[in-house]
Amino acid sequence: MNAIMTLPTEAQMYKAIVQRDARMEGVFFVAVKTTGIFCRPGCKAKTPKRENVEFFATSAEAQAAGYRACRRCHPLELSGATPVWLNDLFQRIKDDPNRRWTNGDLELLGLSPTRVRRWFQEQYQMTFHAYLRTQRIGLAVDRLRSGEDVTSTAFGSGFESLSGFRDSLRKWVGETPTSAKQTEPIFTTRILTPLGPMLAAGGDSGLCLLEFADRKMLAKQFQRISRLFQQPILVGSHEILNQTARQIQQYFQGERTSFTLTLRMDGTSFQTAVWQHLLAIPYGQTASYRQLAERLKNPTAARAVGRANGDNRFAIVVPCHRVVRSDGHLCGYAGGLWRKKWLLNWERQHTNSTGQIPLPLGPP
Ligand SMILES: [Zn+2]
Repeated sequence: MNAIMTLPTEAQMYKAIVQRDARMEGVFFVAVKTTGIFCRPGCKAKTPKRENVEFFATSAEAQAAGYRACRRCHPLELSGATPVWLNDLFQRIKDDPNRRWTNGDLELLGLSPTRVRRWFQEQYQMTFHAYLRTQRIGLAVDRLRSGEDVTSTAFGSGFESLSGFRDSLRKWVGETPTSAKQTEPIFTTRILTPLGPMLAAGGDSGLCLLEFADRKMLAKQFQRISRLFQQPILVGSHEILNQTARQIQQYFQGERTSFTLTLRMDGTSFQTAVWQHLLAIPYGQTASYRQLAERLKNPTAARAVGRANGDNRFAIVVPCHRVVRSDGHLCGYAGGLWRKKWLLNWERQHTNSTGQIPLPLGPP
């Protein structure tokens, strides 16, 4: 296996800041010697001259070298975190999820309705009003399932009429109030990580999806799981999502090397077998497609193993990032090659620093 670099090359990093490449978020930070300020790669401030920049893998290192955080791109906030200017609005939505918001209400909070709309569109691939609506529907479905009657659910969830409630349920959940009681909606939320936000989805029977939420992919990911599980997807929280967020956080703090989450694997028997073998690759180690195929007693299936690996819906938890080519080269990763590099490097560093030696898995 080739050595893995902590950082991309200086040329790659400089190119990323010139292009304001958001995919490099979390991979490195750029500091400007002449101003004493450090930024995220995607900062909208004027691009510094090449001879004036210095690169760091973490914000902590940039600070240790005496740099201050840029006030434009806020490099100390987790990538993809809710921006400070939206905190107040989110708190109000949480306190009163049924409130209807007009542009005037937003302006009273000192917010630009256009900016709010754009943020929700970018982060959730839906309008602000659609976001509020799916949240409200999610709460209503919860109430129905816990035994509350239709009328009090409808009016208690901010609907002005029973027919309006029925229409919304049919549109968003594809159900009547009676069948909505039995439905098992999939809730979705974002989980923040140093490598950017992840999108998690799951419900009563387990986690259905955990992927890096690259913006252009979000809408497709939603459609994919909704089709696969034949269930509506609602923005909201669920115990499985809280568990997932906790365990992912522990992973990124270097405190967790494996996961104890109920996964809804729902795949073909071949895919499921491949995913089970992925779970058996120890933290900090790698295996090749060929090795996996051999472990599956199907040595000619390396290519099919590669495809099943790509179909894995549980980034990090089912560690498809630990699969490399037989010559040791890293190869494609749905979450982006730089994330794969970062994860392998992180696990390797962590294995060394804790002195933990994972057990090798069978003969090579
Ligand atoms: Zn900046």
